Amino acid sequence: MVKLRWRDSGTIERLKAKTYIITAGAIGSPVILIKSGLTGRSGQVGRNYMYHCGALAAGLFSKPTGGADTFIKQLGFTDLYFGSADFPHKLGYSQTVPIPGHLSIQENLPVPIPDAIAKFLLKRILAMTGFVEDLPQPENRVEVSNTGAIHLFHKFHPYDIYRSRYYMRQLKKVMGHAGVVFMFGATGDKDDRQTAHQVGTTRFGSDPKTSVLDPYCRLHDHDNVFVVDGGFMPTSLGVSPALTIVANALRVADYINETC
Ligand SMILES: Cc1cc2nc3c(=O)[nH]c(=O)nc-3n(C[C@H](O)[C@H](O)[C@H](O)COP(=O)(O)OP(=O)(O)OC[C@H]3O[C@@H](n4cnc5c(N)ncnc54)[C@H](O)[C@@H]3O)c2cc1C
Repeated sequence: MVKLRWRDSGTIERLKAKTYIITAGAIGSPVILIKSGLTGRSGQVGRNYMYHCGALAAGLFSKPTGGADTFIKQLGFTDLYFGSADFPHKLGYSQTVPIPGHLSIQENLPVPIPDAIAKFLLKRILAMTGFVEDLPQPENRVEVSNTGAIHLFHKFHPYDIYRSRYYMRQLKKVMGHAGVVFMFGATGDKDDRQTAHQVGTTRFGSDPKTSVLDPYCRLHDHDNVFVVDGGFMPTSLGVSPALTIVANALRVADYINETC
């Protein structure tokens, strides 16, 4: 790549650099690559778009749980990360998640309840989610139309859904052991409901025919362009991705400092 050209509030700007680093996220970066014609040999730019097929269990306990104010995301376990003896399939990490406010609880109950009761219930709820590591599927993708519009295509694989249903049952068992009074479970396997945790769209690898980036996150076919964000991940890990994205960025930054 020899120069950069972009539009800023209607003005065309230009810049020349020795090395270019794209960090627009797993949706933004493939869009920039596609619009710039930097798609390389693999045909994989924008493909293998993943997030997490999750499972959720929310329970009502007789005592305050701290779920609404203390243990918002702090409690987690990895016991089911690799599945279990009777279910030898990779699942992922489990952690507590934020509970919606009392207004949301009131809105979603079939019968109206007063504020005081909603607040009482809120203090006694604990919600846990289980991340399921999605399979990379080339047909799940970020595309740019002729008009420049961004389109996301995503469908969970039946194996993702199968594992998330198992995870939900296990989370409910955990709640049961913890003395839950009432609970419900749900799976996050509906497509097109969210875009958080997006990864995979510029996957790294050593083979230019099957990956977009080399192991140091450099484009296989353009050796002065690096892509450093969640797109490099060849799988979705089964954990929240931000710290891995940061750790990889530091690793690549060291490499760029030493070699470019
Ligand atoms: C609601 C929510 C909750 C989350 N909770 C957690 C959590 O608890 N733990 C965790 O680990 N992860 C969590 N995540 C995921 C985490 O935030 C992302 O995985 C991570 O931030 C992705 O990092 P990134 O560098 O790939 O992209 P981003 O952090 O998205 O950075 C990309 C940047 O590029 C900019 N950009 C995009 N396109 C362009 C363009 N054309 N020109 C210029 N700039 C552009 C964007 O504005 C953005 O600032 C959560 C995400 C969401 C949405």
